[in-house]
Amino acid sequence: MQISNEQLALVNKQIAALRKAGSFYGKKLEEAGIDSISSPEDFVRLPFSEKKDLRDAYPLGLMTAPESDVVRIHSSSGTTGLPVIIPYTAKDVDDWAIMFKRCYEYAGITKMDRIQITPGYGLWTAGIGFQNGAEKLGAMVIPMGPGNTDKQLQMMQDMKSTVLCSTSSYALLLAEEIDKRGIKDRIHLKKGVIGSERWSEKMRQRISESLGIELYDIYGLTEIYGPGIGINCKYNTGMHYWDDYIYIEIIDPVSLQPVPDGTQGEIVITTLVKEGAPLIRYRTHDLSRIIPGDCPCGSPHPRLDVIMGRTDDMMKIKGVNVFPSQIEEVLKQFPETSSEYQIRISHLDGKDTMRIYVETNGSVNFLDLANRIAARVKSVIGFTPLVKVVEFGLLPRSEKKTKRVIDERFE
Ligand code: ZN
Repeated sequence: MQISNEQLALVNKQIAALRKAGSFYGKKLEEAGIDSISSPEDFVRLPFSEKKDLRDAYPLGLMTAPESDVVRIHSSSGTTGLPVIIPYTAKDVDDWAIMFKRCYEYAGITKMDRIQITPGYGLWTAGIGFQNGAEKLGAMVIPMGPGNTDKQLQMMQDMKSTVLCSTSSYALLLAEEIDKRGIKDRIHLKKGVIGSERWSEKMRQRISESLGIELYDIYGLTEIYGPGIGINCKYNTGMHYWDDYIYIEIIDPVSLQPVPDGTQGEIVITTLVKEGAPLIRYRTHDLSRIIPGDCPCGSPHPRLDVIMGRTDDMMKIKGVNVFPSQIEEVLKQFPETSSEYQIRISHLDGKDTMRIYVETNGSVNFLDLANRIAARVKSVIGFTPLVKVVEFGLLPRSEKKTKRVIDERFE
């Protein structure tokens, strides 16, 4: 999707602020001798920004507005090395809430809803983002934060929560717990707003059917406000994103060139009105595509497909590039398996091996199912994995993100 003239004008304001602040990107622009841009061709010549640039700016090197205007910071969880600190001005906080309110509205949620928020609060952008958007909308927030399933279910019943905000892993855990306890008739949920990780169609169906609710995917990342920069509408034809606040391009992760709408690649985001920490051409490493054409809902906002994975999820096994989403696509074709799976990669006797664990109920022949799955996976990736079928419920469930790929070669 080519950048519009309105968006270009906004990018020029971001460029001016970055140059004035002299942050890492301001310096990049200075070195490249760029003061402003005047065409889409100029835009795609702007340098990218990477997570590493943001880490190197720790703690406050990204701050682009005067400190007197900064009201808050958030931080992304750093699994390796330093975290990334993102400063927000009051306008950034308000813009984020406006975008999030729009997300709730696209999901048909109103001020009469009661929204139970289970993602974490604190440095993390999740919980507070869901909360500010809900308050902007005027709904009643039940700010639970993560964990403590007993209390979650008690409040869900007593407060008659109508909307659940959570990760897909935790929504599945709650759905299974509600089934197990036989309390479904005391649950009033109508909708789920699910964020922060890639999830399969199968998992979506299981959560949706088990809780009897409509599900909405919310998109976002800490570096770019947080969750709330896009969501699907009731037609479920991809996530509309707010192109008055951000510009999204999709690039080929190897050649780094933009690809046409409809083609899969890496999501690259440019903020248009951010003050605390504007980012230009930020590489998210999330894989998706822009969906061409118009949505039946009539929204003017363009659409991103569901996140297909991350460029860094790619596993190199026996010299072959494999994405977890390819395995998931195969498992989707076997209705006798549950939504849960685990991939384990190890190196034995000089050879890589891939084991795939899947769950089923007791009514099928485990060995036969394993053989059929192994044959189908081979037809997609070119080599035969070891498939192990286990009883339903044996694979780990998580309150946060479920770890589905375990690479024992590097442990
Ligand atoms: Zn729509």
